Amino acid sequence: MAKKKVLVLGGGFGGVFAAKSLEKLGRGEVDVELVNNNNYFVFQPLLPEVASSSINSADAVVPLRQLLSNVQVRQAQVMGIDFAKKTVVVMQGARLTPVELKYDELVLALGTAVDLSRIPGMSDHALTMKDLTDAHMLRTHVIGCLETADVTAEPEVKQQLLSFVVVGAGFSGVETVAEVRELIRRALPYYHNIAPDEVRMHLIEYAKRILPTFPADLAEYATTQLRSQGIEVLTGVGTKSATSTGVDLTDGRKINSSTIVATIGNGPHPLVQMLGLDLHWARIKTDRFMRVPGREHVWALGDAALIPLIDNPQEDPADYATQTAQFAVREGDQLAANIMATLNGKEMKPFAYTSRGSLASLGMSKAVADVYGFKLSGMFAWLLWRGFYLSFLPGFAAKFRVGVNWLLNSVMPPNIVQLRMPPPATRYIHFWKGDKVFEPGMLIDGFYTVINGAFKLTIDNPETSEHFEKVFGAGEHFGERVLVKSELRTGLVEALEDGLLLFIAQKDFTRFATAFPFLDQYFKDYIEKTFGGPGKAFAPGSTNQQKPKLAKTS
Ligand SMILES: Cc1cc2nc3c(=O)[nH]c(=O)nc-3n(C[C@H](O)[C@H](O)[C@H](O)COP(=O)(O)OP(=O)(O)OC[C@H]3O[C@@H](n4cnc5c(N)ncnc54)[C@H](O)[C@@H]3O)c2cc1C
Repeated sequence: MAKKKVLVLGGGFGGVFAAKSLEKLGRGEVDVELVNNNNYFVFQPLLPEVASSSINSADAVVPLRQLLSNVQVRQAQVMGIDFAKKTVVVMQGARLTPVELKYDELVLALGTAVDLSRIPGMSDHALTMKDLTDAHMLRTHVIGCLETADVTAEPEVKQQLLSFVVVGAGFSGVETVAEVRELIRRALPYYHNIAPDEVRMHLIEYAKRILPTFPADLAEYATTQLRSQGIEVLTGVGTKSATSTGVDLTDGRKINSSTIVATIGNGPHPLVQMLGLDLHWARIKTDRFMRVPGREHVWALGDAALIPLIDNPQEDPADYATQTAQFAVREGDQLAANIMATLNGKEMKPFAYTSRGSLASLGMSKAVADVYGFKLSGMFAWLLWRGFYLSFLPGFAAKFRVGVNWLLNSVMPPNIVQLRMPPPATRYIHFWKGDKVFEPGMLIDGFYTVINGAFKLTIDNPETSEHFEKVFGAGEHFGERVLVKSELRTGLVEALEDGLLLFIAQKDFTRFATAFPFLDQYFKDYIEKTFGGPGKAFAPGSTNQQKPKLAKTS
């Protein structure tokens, strides 16, 4: 009999453990192929430890090919599924070439996406904590804040740089705030101009208490522990909006901060949303065997799926599998067994699993654990947390590296090397009324288009007695004059009301404007008309030749 092809989409906990079990249970009977956009599996529970430098970035991930030696692994982006033709379209390679893959059985394990769109400004200004890049970016960003805070002479700038906000106090939010605190605490002895009491950390939770999946007394213990480390725990309050300079809370408070980390907003995967499947709570509805109703030979598991734990489930989350690695792993095993049962005409088993408990690390060698009904806290819970995740981490090499890293990290100084990642060349930036966009003497950065709000440009040049004022509204732009003339900023731009700008970095904007003669001419005419005097076209290769003015230093 010809081998059946099982295609698994997604290489997280659900996809990897399903593929691993299929490889074992179906050897000789099925060909298993797994598609994932990265060539590695991310052990998400360890991401906060990457952010704090407790372990190296590469140690929270495992190469899929080493994890699944008898599975065909394909690094590609899933773009679409044709259920009628039983095909999946993926894009692969540097040029993103489309490839069509056939399947006999299809497993959907694409996880969820972060959706922050309900809070204005949040998706443009918050860092997230979902994959390896996020954890790496957070670490880089925090170290960058310490670097600048140590040398700035402007108290307001320093205060903003040393204020850190984590939104959401589920276990990923709690572990993230605790790990960032730990990184800063261990790094501060190397930043001689920052006093420990200048650092402010905030954990913001909309619910009445943190860690909603833990018993109330453990959540209380965790709150006390976090507060004792100087973390302000704000419960019963949400975030209304975010800008480049802070967050606006639902109780009217504003927190100035250069660092917002959002661990909220678990939304549906964009592809899952487009598939025309029956979704509930933004998850794919399945039956108890993890089959997707109405679609033959299609299965779903992990965070993307809503798997009932009982017959006739009600509108109660407890009636369904939870979105945790613990469940995804067990779902993977059961789903593989069910696929093999259908292929062999045997009876399938419904998915049933009861959580063994939860663990959350609180930093400073403390944790809370609710395991098999036993409630633990403090150092013993922390050792259990470490032991549990070490045993859970797939592959000996990964376990060994993480274990050694933990050991070294406990006796060595923290790694505060900042491997910088350039910010996106084009991005939205939100401003509150009174915020400064740029000031005279700053190095030119790029071009700004007003999406909404009003921004006032003031130029006062004592050398030339030049005085100029203009208010820019939606659809208007500023910042191009000095780009054309290759100078430092000469003007001050302030937000007259809350507003949103689209920013394009200097190099990209100049390239774009140079490539289109009509744009080049447009800016030449615009500058002549707006600022007077002859305009100047974007000279190819024009760069900033001027030396920056000395910034204030301590
Ligand atoms: C910071 C953090 C800490 C956590 N801590 C714990 C914990 O302590 N205990 C616990 O039980 N759970 C924890 N979780 C939850 C747990 O990690 C998830 O429940 C689990 O990862 C879900 O597995 P999944 O396979 O459904 O999704 P994921 O692990 O998200 O995997 C989905 C995979 O699909 C890939 N993918 C997505 N779209 C595409 C596409 N279009 N093409 C190709 N590939 C694609 C992704 O890259 C990813 O590899 C934590 C989560 C986070 C974020």
